[in-house]
Order: sequence, then structure tokens, then C-alpha cells
Amino acid sequence: MPRTLDPQLRRALAARIRYYNELGIYDFYRRPLSDRGGEIAAATVMDEAEIAVPTNQQGSEEEMSPRKAVAIAMPVIEENIFEVIALKPEQSISDPVQALKIIREDLGDCTRCVLHKQGRKQIVFGVGNPTAELMFVGEGPGADEDAQGEPFVGRAGQLLNNMIKAMGITREQVYIANIVKCRPPGNRTPERDECATCSPFLMRQIAVIKPKVIVALGAVAAKTLLAMNASMAQLRGRFYDFRPAGIRNTDRSNDPAWDGCKLAVTYHPAFLLRDPRQKGEAWKDLQMVMKELGMKAPKATT
Ligand code: SF4
Repeated sequence: MPRTLDPQLRRALAARIRYYNELGIYDFYRRPLSDRGGEIAAATVMDEAEIAVPTNQQGSEEEMSPRKAVAIAMPVIEENIFEVIALKPEQSISDPVQALKIIREDLGDCTRCVLHKQGRKQIVFGVGNPTAELMFVGEGPGADEDAQGEPFVGRAGQLLNNMIKAMGITREQVYIANIVKCRPPGNRTPERDECATCSPFLMRQIAVIKPKVIVALGAVAAKTLLAMNASMAQLRGRFYDFRPAGIRNTDRSNDPAWDGCKLAVTYHPAFLLRDPRQKGEAWKDLQMVMKELGMKAPKATT
């Protein structure tokens, strides 16, 4: 028989799930009470929630960890507790500039992963049009980005600017962000747990901006956003249906029409600087994106 959650229990559940979110755990699934041998109070079940945490944190860069998940046995209830408690503070704000500001404030002087104490000068949140149709997501800030507090401002950023210009638009028209917001020391690849800890904030940014297309720049961005492990050759050349992880339908209440977007994968500009022969392939990826967005490349001037 469906029943409504007691407000006190609901607050306890919300606090517990926020705690899991802080640990980078965003995926929850319900285990039916029948599997647990009968009627169990939800609070007790929450205390006994099982956390599946990946054991291998030392794998190769090509292998991303599975998303952390929590199994929770719940009684049948009338309201969807996961939708209620997953509502983010910015979701009641219709102005995307203000909503992004709330996410930035929530991030604060973040110490959620080890990158906060490995030489970062500042957090690099993201930049661009808060209502952009097109969003680029890279891996993490480098030295120039760390110094200036803006993503893609170094040599790779110059190349990205040229790629954007070749599409017939400007950097100011798109939104640019990274999977991790702090510079990994020595520009190393961010670890999987760092990506898992930081990316929920990016997911919230995406849910506010509501782009039509996201271009994942490089393998780390692609694998984190798509939560899948594959080579760049396998990932490129097609669109994926993308919905920001951890964001519920009701979170999009200020724009119910937005139900996720397309995601395409191309090479990271830093890789293209190292191997310029692949620029043609990247241009093919961008042309696919332009077609999806109904854009035409500007005519070449002589
Ligand atoms: S990378 Fe992200 S999660 Fe880690 S400290 Fe920086 S802002 Fe926080």
C-alpha cells in the first residue's frame, strides 16, 4: 500500500543522500523489500545501505571507473523521494546567470578531491554564454588556465578558438568547461575519482545551460560524460543522447521542454597540437555538429 514519507524521515533520507553526493555517489537504485526478507523501516535500511565502490583505482588512463552506486531498499511511497531530494538549489531559479552563480557558490573554495592541495592557484569554473546551444567540455585546466581562471586560454585554447571560428561562431557564443575544475599537477590526466568527484558540478552547469549539443574534447571528457570505456576511434563519428547524470526530470522544471541533448566526441585541441594530421578528422566531427545545429561554415575569404 503506497504511503507518504514522514517529514522527519524524509529529512534524514535527504541528509544521507547529500552525504553520498559529497562522496561523488549519484546513482541510486531501489532494492525491493521482498529481497530483504520483509518489512524493514526505511531509516534502518538507509543505515544499512550498501555502497559499491570501485576497488581498482590504479588502472590505465583508458579505463574509467564504473560510477559509484548505492543500493537502497525502500518501501513503496507516494512521492518520489529521489526526485524531491535531488532538487538542486539553482533549479528554482529561471535566470541561468544566477543559477550558475549558485552552483559556483556551492562549489566554494572546494576541497572535495586531492587536486585542491596539489598546487592549484584557483578553481576554473567555466566561461561563456549561459544559454549556449553549443558547449565544449575538456579535461582539466592547464598552467595558463590555472593562472587566468578561465578554461582553454593557452595554446590549446587558441586552437579551440580557431575551431569555433571555423564553424562561423565566436567563443562568446558557446560555453566552455572542463571535467575537473582544478589543475592536475604537471598536467597529468585527472584520476577517475577526481573526475567522479568534480563532474557533478559540471552536470549541474549543463542542466542550467541546456545546450543542444555538447562536444566532448578528448577521451577523459567523453568517457566521464558518457560513463563508458571505449577508444577515441570507437567514440567519435556519431551522436549520443545525453542527460546530465544526477539531474532528475523535475530539476528541469524551469524548462520542461529540455530533455537532454546530443553529445559528440572529438580530439582534444592539445592532442591536435601534437598531431596536426588529425585536424581534418576533428573538422569532420565539427561539421557533423554544425549540421545538427543547422549551421553553415563561413565562406573562405581570398
Ligand atoms: S577538481 Fe573539482 S572536486 Fe576537486 S578540488 Fe577542484 S573543484 Fe573540488
